[in-house]
Amino acid sequence: IDKYVGKKVLVLGLAKSGYMAAKLLDRLGAIVIVNDKSDLDYDEHAKELKQMGLQVIGGSHPLELLSDDLFCIVKNPGIPYRNPLLKEALKKNIPIITEVEIAAELSESEFIGVTGSNGKTTTTMMLGEMMEGSRLKPIVAGNIGTVLSGVVQHSTKENVIVSELSSFQLLGTKTFHPHVAVVLNIFGNHLDYHGNIKEYAKAKSRITVNQTEDDFLVYNAENKEVIDHIVSISKARKVPFSSHALTKEGAYIENDHLYFKNEVIMSTKDMMVRGFHNLENALAALAAAKIYGVASEDIKKVLTNFSGAPHRCQLVHTLHGRLFYNDSKATNILATSKALATFPDQPVILLAGGLDRGNTFDELVPHLKNVKAVITFGETKEKMIDACHKAGIETIKVVRNVEEAVPMAYQLSEEGDIILLSPACASWDQYDSFEQRGDIFVNRVHMLN
Ligand code: ADP
Repeated sequence: IDKYVGKKVLVLGLAKSGYMAAKLLDRLGAIVIVNDKSDLDYDEHAKELKQMGLQVIGGSHPLELLSDDLFCIVKNPGIPYRNPLLKEALKKNIPIITEVEIAAELSESEFIGVTGSNGKTTTTMMLGEMMEGSRLKPIVAGNIGTVLSGVVQHSTKENVIVSELSSFQLLGTKTFHPHVAVVLNIFGNHLDYHGNIKEYAKAKSRITVNQTEDDFLVYNAENKEVIDHIVSISKARKVPFSSHALTKEGAYIENDHLYFKNEVIMSTKDMMVRGFHNLENALAALAAAKIYGVASEDIKKVLTNFSGAPHRCQLVHTLHGRLFYNDSKATNILATSKALATFPDQPVILLAGGLDRGNTFDELVPHLKNVKAVITFGETKEKMIDACHKAGIETIKVVRNVEEAVPMAYQLSEEGDIILLSPACASWDQYDSFEQRGDIFVNRVHMLN
């Protein structure tokens, strides 16, 4: 594409996607200016971009960047539209897009886009594996895979790009339309950014607004917001999935078996991932895979072996009858209570604690029913102990960190126990990220014997 040749483009935010987008735009012949509110003097990416001849401005968002000859702004999805620079750009009618738009414009590959309030990463990964059984070679992009603007530089017609798409990313699209759009659910979270559920749903609906009758929409037939805001406006062919009703024109569950149309795929008992929400993710993924003609046998193989997305209630090890789950992504009480609900019938040893955001853990108390012991660490340990007392848990141990929590948990455990890292807190009091915390957990678990 040559629409960017000689055009001035402002890349706003130099996180991972900004860096890749800047490089891509440079290749497309644009005059690229990169701006980030952080000081970029010691940033490796900034240094590289400067060496390539790009203009890099850090420390603030000066309004002078909005010159009359600015062609468009490519913003990081995380930057809100109330940012003063963006507000001014909107006033001046300067187009604001996200890297999804450019990546899709450039790419020769077909796109499958997965969106929803929850389950994007999990579904995208499941589907990515299933698509190995299609005639196209899948490339997975998103939180876990690689950044879209990086991916498209190497993709061809022989590929299909399977990408998770947040509402923030979708909001910055103009012409983008995936061949298959998957909409998992719309819940009222993320409302701080979008204002209200209507705006939020509208952002998500951008996944289908440009779709035609040649495209497909895989959607959750149980979610009213999805029906009202997405399905109702879509021109694409509809493929529903449902965890309750027998939606015979799509994917559904009957007598504990997953079905697509009239074909039985497998028993839900043979799936490795646990939890009701993962059944929904599996239904969504298989419905999309079926559009590409993936054989039921291949789908079954994937779901039998898929252990979950990393750090999201992932089964990481089994040792002498103990099952170890890494749910380091659970950085709040809601996420941890969901993880605990996944194990209604088994005794759990919970590893929890971390950054103190000032809240108590009282809301966790009703979910601690099956928890036989808690091992706590980090800034919130006292509050965690308090919640354990309220839940009547007798075995409570305080350790310094995750490294110490693992052998302690193992020592307390018996055959049949679940040992679950689901901290209910962010990691930043002791670790760089939830990923690092989870990796440390997994490594320590593998040292047990
Ligand atoms: P996302 O990428 O949308 O953040 P993930 O796949 O990373 O979603 O899952 C994050 C958490 O969301 C999971 O640990 C689980 O608690 C919850 N979750 C996953 N799938 C669903 C679903 N289909 N419905 C509701 N909650 C879900």
